[in-house]
Amino acid sequence: MIDLKEISVDQLKEFILSRGLPHYRAEQLVHWIYEQGAASLEEVTVFSKDLRKELSSIARIGNIRLITSQVSHDGTRKFLFSLDDGETIESVLIPDEKRLTLCISSQVGCAMGCSFCLTGRIGLRRNLKAYEILDQVLQVSRLIRPLRVTNIVLMGMGEPLHNINEVAEALRRINELLKISRRRITLSTAGYLPGFRVLTEKAPPVNLAVSLNATTDKVRNGIMPVNRRYPLKELLAACRTYPLERRKRITFEYIMISGINDTLEDAERLHRLLRGIPSKVNLIPLNRSPGIDLEPSPEERTFRFQQSLLKKGMTVIIRKSKGSDILAACGQLRAEYNK
Ligand code: SF4
Repeated sequence: MIDLKEISVDQLKEFILSRGLPHYRAEQLVHWIYEQGAASLEEVTVFSKDLRKELSSIARIGNIRLITSQVSHDGTRKFLFSLDDGETIESVLIPDEKRLTLCISSQVGCAMGCSFCLTGRIGLRRNLKAYEILDQVLQVSRLIRPLRVTNIVLMGMGEPLHNINEVAEALRRINELLKISRRRITLSTAGYLPGFRVLTEKAPPVNLAVSLNATTDKVRNGIMPVNRRYPLKELLAACRTYPLERRKRITFEYIMISGINDTLEDAERLHRLLRGIPSKVNLIPLNRSPGIDLEPSPEERTFRFQQSLLKKGMTVIIRKSKGSDILAACGQLRAEYNK
């Protein structure tokens, strides 16, 4: 049985032509799967009943399946999906004035082992396939109709650059077939640099966010083990090569962790490190998570950190955490694992 989402669009077209059907049938099918969000061939009502029946005997439109969803008091909604092999992933929908941002996962678990993150505790179970990445967008879009997902962030479970071939294919389809502008898509990385070149060569030029969180290799090695192989200097050198459009900037995320990375000396170093990179900084108060022995910086310290960077002319915002009451905020996704 051929899964029509699992295969590429070119393969889908070949499949339709191989059935002796005209090319426009393939175009219709692509439109119905990706724009109309058809979850089965039965729903492709532009085809006759007979044609649907004929195709259903050899092909299907596969779907990740919703297990549960939870809503936070601030309106953030977390979805738990199961995959064909029984693994589970989470996606998070974040409403914000005019935007509905969907945070999607790129892996089941994560190999990066950041000390402030529940996903890191799971370890890497497996990479997601491109269709499993983009299907999070299709399934959530079906669930929230008539509302529409406006923005996508790859900040859920997993390090996108550690699964970059599938992520690049998913980004191409989200952009070209789901018609979500690449300007509304952001990929966030912890700095797994082998994926960086593939990102610039194979994926549409989406917005880049870097989860930085420290200003010295010593501290970063301690909280983000990926830094031991790809230290700050290499990470920032790679950022300097990222093809940015005019007026675009790289977002540097900086989780404020009490007593670890939140001094005024850190702020001073951060300013020096980012010199020459078109950037903005998001300061994110650490979200408390069960089993993680780190504390968020006091508000006052985060405010002082921000002020000292603002005085140097940097763009810095303190991001409000959303969805922490249902473990849907940054670093809190763990799906069905490690409960
Ligand atoms: S913060 Fe991101 S890269 Fe680090 S362990 Fe969590 S999911 Fe992986």
